[in-house]
Amino acid sequence: MPKQYRVKCHETDAACRGLVKFNNSIFAVNGLLPGETARIELVYGKDRKSTTARLADVEIPSPFRTKPFCEAFPRCGGCTLQHASYEAQLAMKQAAAKKLLGEFAPVGKIIGMETPYHYRHKVHATFYRSRRGMELGIYEENTHKVITVPDCAIQNKTANAILHTLRRLADEFRLPAYNEDTGTGLLRHVLIRCGYATGQVMVVLVLANTNFPGRNHFMEKLKTAHPEITTIIQNINRKKTSMVLGESETVLFGNGYIEDELCGLRFRISSKSFYQVNPAQTEILYRTAIDFAGLTGKEVVLDAYCGTGTIGLIAAGKAADVIGVESNDAAVRDAGVNAQENQVKNARFLKGDAAEYMMHVAKDKAERPDVVIMDPPRSGASEQFLRALVEAKPSRVVYVSCCMETLARDLKVLEKGGFKVEKVQGVDLFGWSGHVECVVLMSRVEK
Ligand code: SAH
Repeated sequence: MPKQYRVKCHETDAACRGLVKFNNSIFAVNGLLPGETARIELVYGKDRKSTTARLADVEIPSPFRTKPFCEAFPRCGGCTLQHASYEAQLAMKQAAAKKLLGEFAPVGKIIGMETPYHYRHKVHATFYRSRRGMELGIYEENTHKVITVPDCAIQNKTANAILHTLRRLADEFRLPAYNEDTGTGLLRHVLIRCGYATGQVMVVLVLANTNFPGRNHFMEKLKTAHPEITTIIQNINRKKTSMVLGESETVLFGNGYIEDELCGLRFRISSKSFYQVNPAQTEILYRTAIDFAGLTGKEVVLDAYCGTGTIGLIAAGKAADVIGVESNDAAVRDAGVNAQENQVKNARFLKGDAAEYMMHVAKDKAERPDVVIMDPPRSGASEQFLRALVEAKPSRVVYVSCCMETLARDLKVLEKGGFKVEKVQGVDLFGWSGHVECVVLMSRVEK
């Protein structure tokens, strides 16, 4: 048996893992809560830095410790916080936000979900065959092993029901699952998107090739079992890759997209466009961002990393002009259609790299925005983007971020560049996971 060490946890890190000091090092331990005394085991890596610690046993549990509700916990890796009450999760997220961002400005109390279950409206699962027949599951964290999570408690219930039907139909039609090692087989993944306000449902079946015996019959049976499905897309991914979607798509049923409503506007979402997975909390997130922007109707707003144009279009009602920039083709096309469909005339969307557009704007005074709302991916904004943003001198910047570490890094750069961080607000979009979404308001202090 590996040697065990007794430790006490006082705080958690940005991913809500318990931090413990041991052997002059600090370890982040999954499943450990502040206030707990526990025994850990060391998992030795190549060197001191890559050595990690694993929770062996909790000796004195926190009053906020709860019994995990899912049989796939913790292997699945999606919900890393099932050992903590929802209140405790929010407290850990708040503490992390304060630790990482509190040096910049006051941090508002994180806005939690009313009910932290079945909130994920985008669901992805991988086909594989086990002895019991076809399964639909997810990759166990950091491995290529697929595990089944029956009726996942954070996924939309309709999506869960569709997963069951797909498994059953795959067996009935004797369809082979794709085998990663040999590159043979047919069924690879399924992606399901459910509209929160509209109830529209998209099913994207990702196949290794087009050789699908009985395809039409299969689709008819799927539609009959789930009349709520409004569109079915066949996506072909022939490559040996961990990317889910391939390039070629054929719409088999419906119009190839779903619509949803957020903050009173209607949005079109294609299979490849980014769209927040938790629409109820997204409304709160967007309202906070637009409130922070302090719009009076006169401002030119840049919506950088705009996706399908959601934030920009909602802001357009309170701004003079909105320009959105987005690098994903499908998303920016959706954004253009969304502007038209919502009859928003003062917004336009450009396909391109946000940094390049920012550099262009910084050079041309006439194009400079008054307010920049930015919502980059987890990696944060690039150095070029931040440099150009400083040069463009907008009066206010609203930074929407899903990664506090890159956010803190970028805020430092912007502070040096003459912006003052005014306030920080966390919104919980991902209950039971360690992720936190934050909105930050900055204003320009130098002329
Ligand atoms: N604001 C949107 C999307 C946020 S996700 C929403 O709330 O729905 C981040 C978006 O940035 C994605 O749509 C991604 O395609 C886009 N993106 C990533 N890198 C980019 C870059 N360098 N330039 C422009 N857009 C980028």
